[in-house]
Amino acid sequence: MSENGMIQKVDLYQIWEQEEFRQILPFKEYIFDMLIHLDIVSEQRRYDTKTGSRLPIENFFVPCMLTQRNDTDFLKQECTPERTLSLAFVFKGTIIPPALPNRLICACLSMWTLKEYQGRKLMFSGFVGLSFDKEHDIVVCVEGNKILLYLVHKRSKGLIIPDIATSVRDCLFVTLERISEFYQSSIHCKTSSKLPFLTEYSCSKLNCFTSEKKLVSETEECLCKHGENIKNNWRIWNKKKEQKQCDANCQGLSEDALSQIPSNTELLRLSVNCETRMLHDLALHLGMEEMVWSDMVENYPTNTQMVKFLTLMHLKENDEITFTELDNGLREMEITPHTLCVVRQRKQVKSSIPDDILDCIPSDEIVDRLAPLIGKIVFQLGIELGLSVEDLESIKEKCDRDLTAQNKEVLFAWRKDRTVKPTIRVLEQAFVNIGKGARCLKEVVKDVDPNTLKAVEIVTGNAT
Ligand SMILES: [Zn+2]
Ligand SMILES: [Zn+2]
Repeated sequence: MSENGMIQKVDLYQIWEQEEFRQILPFKEYIFDMLIHLDIVSEQRRYDTKTGSRLPIENFFVPCMLTQRNDTDFLKQECTPERTLSLAFVFKGTIIPPALPNRLICACLSMWTLKEYQGRKLMFSGFVGLSFDKEHDIVVCVEGNKILLYLVHKRSKGLIIPDIATSVRDCLFVTLERISEFYQSSIHCKTSSKLPFLTEYSCSKLNCFTSEKKLVSETEECLCKHGENIKNNWRIWNKKKEQKQCDANCQGLSEDALSQIPSNTELLRLSVNCETRMLHDLALHLGMEEMVWSDMVENYPTNTQMVKFLTLMHLKENDEITFTELDNGLREMEITPHTLCVVRQRKQVKSSIPDDILDCIPSDEIVDRLAPLIGKIVFQLGIELGLSVEDLESIKEKCDRDLTAQNKEVLFAWRKDRTVKPTIRVLEQAFVNIGKGARCLKEVVKDVDPNTLKAVEIVTGNAT
């Protein structure tokens, strides 16, 4: 267990069979639930790849039992200054009580998907690597009196979505606060309302930290000793909610972000947010021929969204455009380059679906009922959910003209890929992002009882 940090429930019960633990044996279920509640043990969720149902949990993570240190080169290879933002929760003493980071890691495991790197699970003593979504990874690790948080983007830190950075920081802060309070109360610490840690933000060197206090007090600029304005990083970790437009300080995409080739999802986001005429003019300005445009309009006479998206895809596939070409094109046409900032925005979801349903993986039944309600946005939905254009084209081919069947195939393909847990929440965000809205999803899950949904998951899980 000290190597992989995992234990099976039966093994734990077996330990409790021993003479010394006999008195807790009658309460074993309760004690076990308590260990989960206290973040000492965390579930390793497993799902049937065919039906999406949750399999009975066999393995549990026990981070506090891990002694193996991180000996992978993940930090060196993946958490590079070009792709990573970092902050630190700095504790007042010289070391952190070890229970704290272990419980934090446990809580992280229950929120995000444990990442694998070169065939190994990224969980070691005081270190965990997780996937937030297909583009963003999270690393939490302990170094001296600091708990470091890294947010890593697949291509460039300039493309990190501030809403995601802010929600990850919020989540960890609140969890750490909760754990510290518990810890302080349990060791009869004098009741002080002060937190035992402070937040500090790093510059691109990733090892040079500036305190939050300084950042909040100084207004426009706050330079570190390398002359970097840390305020820019701080803003990404502290995005104001509900803010739709760029704020006055927005400098558009960074140079590094501009040099990147846009992902399909980013192009989709851009196409949803741009007017048809403007995209037509931009594409022609960048060298696309009018004929290509009219062919697309002919192919999709009733689907403007599709024409807009395919136009951008055409520029990417044929002219190998980066964000720089789009940025230059917009400037030359005297359109604000902040148009491109939408690729770093995530639409706010005002969800009325309860949390315990949102955290579930949609069952076969939900997929069946949802598919006919999706309509002709199958392509956009597929792109938003991370399927490739090739996959989508072959789905279209396979279910010729049958929209419901196409939608079903897209949902199944998405649900099968487990790099990120495919929850109803992810689906809801996708519907909102492509401008469809989540009403159809709400309709389908409105009578679903979360307990039944979970029970069905376990029963069907057993059957397979
Ligand atoms: Zn610095
Ligand atoms: Zn902007």
